[in-house]
Amino acid sequence: MNVPFLDLGAAYREIQAELEPAILASLRSGWYIGGQDVEAFEQEYAAFIETEYCVGVANGLDALRLALVAMRIGAGDEVIVPSNTFIATWLAVTQTGAIPVPVEPVEFTYNLDPGKVEAAITPRTKAILPVHLYGQPADLDPILALARKHGLRVLEDAAQAHGARYKGKRIGGHGDAVAWSFYPGKNLGALGDAGAITSNDPEIADRVRVLRNYGSRVKYVNEVKGCNSRLDPVQAAILRVKLRHLDEWNARRTAIAARYTAELAGTRLVLPEVPEWAEPVWHLYVVQHAERDGLQKALKETGIGTQIHYPIPPHLQMAYRDAGYAAGRFPIAESMANRLLSLPMGPQLEHAGVTSAIVALKTTAHG
Ligand SMILES: *Cc1c(COP(=O)(O)O)cnc(C)c1O
Repeated sequence: MNVPFLDLGAAYREIQAELEPAILASLRSGWYIGGQDVEAFEQEYAAFIETEYCVGVANGLDALRLALVAMRIGAGDEVIVPSNTFIATWLAVTQTGAIPVPVEPVEFTYNLDPGKVEAAITPRTKAILPVHLYGQPADLDPILALARKHGLRVLEDAAQAHGARYKGKRIGGHGDAVAWSFYPGKNLGALGDAGAITSNDPEIADRVRVLRNYGSRVKYVNEVKGCNSRLDPVQAAILRVKLRHLDEWNARRTAIAARYTAELAGTRLVLPEVPEWAEPVWHLYVVQHAERDGLQKALKETGIGTQIHYPIPPHLQMAYRDAGYAAGRFPIAESMANRLLSLPMGPQLEHAGVTSAIVALKTTAHG
């Protein structure tokens, strides 16, 4: 049985009858920048996340970058980031002129280790940027306490955590601002690029609103050097439809994760640990295995699709050669990059597909 890592076509087909009229209505509206669907999505997403403000932007990277700019972070400032994350988290910091300062994760929750953050704070530190990686909330309370103690901002990268909860409260309003990506493969995904920030801080929300639109509140009056990073109205119409399915689709992911956790216990796979205060949304189900590459190849031969998130940590990427980090500098991130494997996961992955993946994993990851 062929089990794809992720089937976006199946997701589209499941709600095609709702999506296509919404797309057509948007196209026929005669309104192609901003407008009713963008405003309605911003309100509906803020309500879902239980935050005051939501501002749509063009993608997740811009959401991170514009939130940093709105916090007045720039050249010479330092921002604490995880040593294990998708490159966008670091790039957003670099694009403002600030410097990403990596801190290692807790090995089995994959998220920023709050116990290691304080040692990385310097007089130039302006913000902490935790990532809710793979859909699992980072341990925010100690991070927020450190930020208060040192007068720092907290920006959360929630690109993989739509709907996740930390101590019962949805991710989206704990820190000063939270950045979202609606890249198609995310838990809440558009059919193209899209992003947003959420916040309870009216000033940050207002600044991002102005920055995303050429630094302009009133047409042809430019308050600041902004950019063009607007949420496309067709994508907003699509996101409004998909938001209605998010909780149910996350519940299906959670059921798949529960099967992996129960049925893969006792194999040589190291399974993700979920702290008792975390309600993850399983953007990815990531295991660790000493012979990861061989395992991935054997799975592929039996038709089981897997991926690696991520094979090279940011500090060892060619793009960050100028930062001068040697191999061995962040050993947890490096060892994870060599051991991680993301199993098939998605709301349209059926019971039989999960069973096939588990059977294949048990036979190949045993001895
Ligand atoms: C997807 C992702 C982003 C970037 O989102 P884009 O919409 O692709 O720009 C940022 N951070 C993390 C952790 C992501 O997974």
